[in-house]
Amino acid sequence: MQLKPLTDFYAGRFALFKARIFVFLKGLVMVNDQYYMKLALEEAKKALAIEEVPIGAVVICKDKVVGRGYNFKERAHDPTGHAEIIALRDAANNLASWRLDQCQLYVTVEPCPMCAGAIVQARIKRLVYGAADPKAGATGSLYNLVEDERFNHQVTELKGGVLAEECRDLLKGFFNSLRKTDTRKGG
Ligand SMILES: [Zn+2]
Repeated sequence: MQLKPLTDFYAGRFALFKARIFVFLKGLVMVNDQYYMKLALEEAKKALAIEEVPIGAVVICKDKVVGRGYNFKERAHDPTGHAEIIALRDAANNLASWRLDQCQLYVTVEPCPMCAGAIVQARIKRLVYGAADPKAGATGSLYNLVEDERFNHQVTELKGGVLAEECRDLLKGFFNSLRKTDTRKGG
């Protein structure tokens, strides 16, 4: 008769322990996500340095950076020269495989329809983005192509809003300075 309360006691302790482990692991994932988003931000700053729209991306596979990219559209005269496409190509090249189903993609701004399509094509496992893009975002804002079950692949996890403010500020600063330059030209 005394066993039951004792079992309950240990069950309770175990539940608490599990909850703590969960919070701890969630914290670790959050710290990791911020760390990798900072790497994507470094890529975005490279775009900024050459007056491209500052968006950056990194592909992570088994805790290693396997692909990097930043927006290179103007320089390359390439409408597909988005950070995600460049990072995916870099990762596929480094891993000698187009199938990136063990990889995570971190990008500073929510992907457009083209990049969301490429993420599905590459079978990316997990997608993390910084700032949402209400005007062109295709992973939650206007569409959600990476979780659409009509396609043959969906990401297992989609997470937005990681270091969103930093990612957005970088863009805002760029467009503000562009506007100022335009005004000077006009005047
Ligand atoms: Zn794109």
